[in-house]
Amino acid sequence: MYHSKRVLQCIIAFSLIAFAERAEAYCVGPLDYASFWSNEFADLRVPVWVSISPIYPVSNTGESPEDVARILLEVIARHNESTRAPKLYFAGFTNESYNPALVPFGVGAHSALPAGITVHGLSCADLVPVCKGDAALACASFGIRGTGPASVFDDPVGFVLLDCAENTPWALDAYPDMAQVLFHELGHALALQHSDRTKAECEAGNNIHGGPVGGTVAVMHTVPPASFVAYRSWRRDDVEGLEYIYGAAAPNYEISWWDDLTYPNYPNEASGSSLRDMGVSRTAVVSNRLTSGTQSIATTATDGRVLNLVLDEFGTESPANIADRVVDPGPEGLAWSLPAVAMSEDDGQERVFVAWMAGEQQDSVMLTLRTAVRGSNSLVWQYSNYSEQVATNRLAAGYDQATDSFVVTTLDRVTTEIQILYFDGDGVSSGEVIPLVG
Ligand SMILES: [Zn+2]
Repeated sequence: MYHSKRVLQCIIAFSLIAFAERAEAYCVGPLDYASFWSNEFADLRVPVWVSISPIYPVSNTGESPEDVARILLEVIARHNESTRAPKLYFAGFTNESYNPALVPFGVGAHSALPAGITVHGLSCADLVPVCKGDAALACASFGIRGTGPASVFDDPVGFVLLDCAENTPWALDAYPDMAQVLFHELGHALALQHSDRTKAECEAGNNIHGGPVGGTVAVMHTVPPASFVAYRSWRRDDVEGLEYIYGAAAPNYEISWWDDLTYPNYPNEASGSSLRDMGVSRTAVVSNRLTSGTQSIATTATDGRVLNLVLDEFGTESPANIADRVVDPGPEGLAWSLPAVAMSEDDGQERVFVAWMAGEQQDSVMLTLRTAVRGSNSLVWQYSNYSEQVATNRLAAGYDQATDSFVVTTLDRVTTEIQILYFDGDGVSSGEVIPLVG
């Protein structure tokens, strides 16, 4: 992906939108969690802390607090890019500890913990009572921090408890992968239950079941899959579960941009311009065309449909008609993860290339990498599906002037190695997959 001279970011427009009902599988807790979290965090931006407490420091995992924070930052970024609410942010380190002697919903049970979610590392001696005796790698829950009566959810706190290093050899390039497990546990802290529960199993716990019963490939599946790379970001069922719980309370987001005159300092937000009336469900991905201020943007609409527009250096949006920014109006034009975008550098006849993971199914981890190409002055797209299915819903795109090719990177589902794919000017794959070995 090319670097941008401009900064684009989502801003909040404070209006509610309805999400179309879709039949995805999830099991979620029975309470009004949007109200639960927004009692303390009115804008549903929830802080996440890393414990360096004497009792349950994350260093019990065998990783340093700095490395756990580094992984957590990446997990939070991936959560935020595909989830409308709640948004998470890394709040820092805390010396305060979870107290396993107290029940989660007891009054004052966790009064020492900072508001928000705290990630802890368990000592081996405490693993069994805290994680209820099962052979879990980790566990997570939420409760009341303790300033109000137990019947009022006005002081929410969440906790994630990672297993000790002696029991679980945490890794970043093999199972058990800490990033994937952190994702799963943050899901529990936000009231997602295991997505592969049958309707009867789910409802037996007084939880709410959605979608068809049967196979699910979600991060919230009970058994962490060996191909963990595909589960380092939310999958379709996870996104739908979060949308069910928090969607009605989520802000409506639009893309905003600035002339980045103060780089590397943070830009002046007051000078931002919003791409008006284009509601989005995800972050913007940006590609510029070298030697000009023209940029191409990809994101998804509130219903998950992939959108694209070109923004010139004066802020002129093309196409002007928002309906014309839909890349693919068909069933393969929906994405549950971030699309990617690139522009060629042919002066005056630039081509715009958009790639996304289409066809996410409930019973398979495999996805279709779909591409679309148009001239920057044309509304006619040329579509192509990459011949091999891929498992990881992560991709980025760029343009290689030397070969006049569009380039897509994604990740091998088993080895985690980066794969490079080449596409011609019509968006058709060269068939070659180049792994970055090691
Ligand atoms: Zn779980």
